[in-house]
Amino acid sequence: MRDYLVNEVGLGGVFTMQQVREAIPNVSQVDRRMRELRQMIPPWVIRSAQSDASLALNTYRLDVIGGEEKAKLPSSKARREVFESSAHRCQVCGIGVGEEYSEYPGEVARLQLGHWVPLEQGGSPTSKGNLRAECHRCNGGIRNLTGSAVTAESVESRALALPRKAREDLVQWMRQGSREVPTAEVLYYELRSLPLAAQEEAVARIRASVELRDN
Ligand SMILES: [Zn+2]
Repeated sequence: MRDYLVNEVGLGGVFTMQQVREAIPNVSQVDRRMRELRQMIPPWVIRSAQSDASLALNTYRLDVIGGEEKAKLPSSKARREVFESSAHRCQVCGIGVGEEYSEYPGEVARLQLGHWVPLEQGGSPTSKGNLRAECHRCNGGIRNLTGSAVTAESVESRALALPRKAREDLVQWMRQGSREVPTAEVLYYELRSLPLAAQEEAVARIRASVELRDN
């Protein structure tokens, strides 16, 4: 992957995932390889249409050839805490883990760790304050810009349409920079991330406990 980018694509060169897969037939998990390169010291800078609007959809440009040393990774504890505090939702586009992308029927979101300040801009790779949950499409920079991308106008108009209590909560959360996530909401996404059979069994038992209490 590294050799291909340096020798075939070259600095400033533009490429697609399809071209990488064709050029390196045995390459697996291209998204993951790109993510690893972006986490090297110094980080490789590979821009996508999401980070640079001048790029066509699904194309990438190699802007900086980085180093070969792997940056430290956040601990699994930090990882779990970030996912829990985001209620297992992407903090870029809001999709929940296991939910289907409306613009990509059949594809469900997986969560990965991303950074508020990108590593290429000096953001910390491990400090919790710089970590956020991102779905694999936002993390890979491959989410369709015209899809459910967040714009100030759409967020504001939907916020203004909320009931008063919800608007008050929203203002409060923004003021404190965080929000308490109801445990049931966290568990909803954890349940959805389980294999289907385990999910159904657990839900059946939880449902039974609810019905029991009703009697
Ligand atoms: Zn997302």
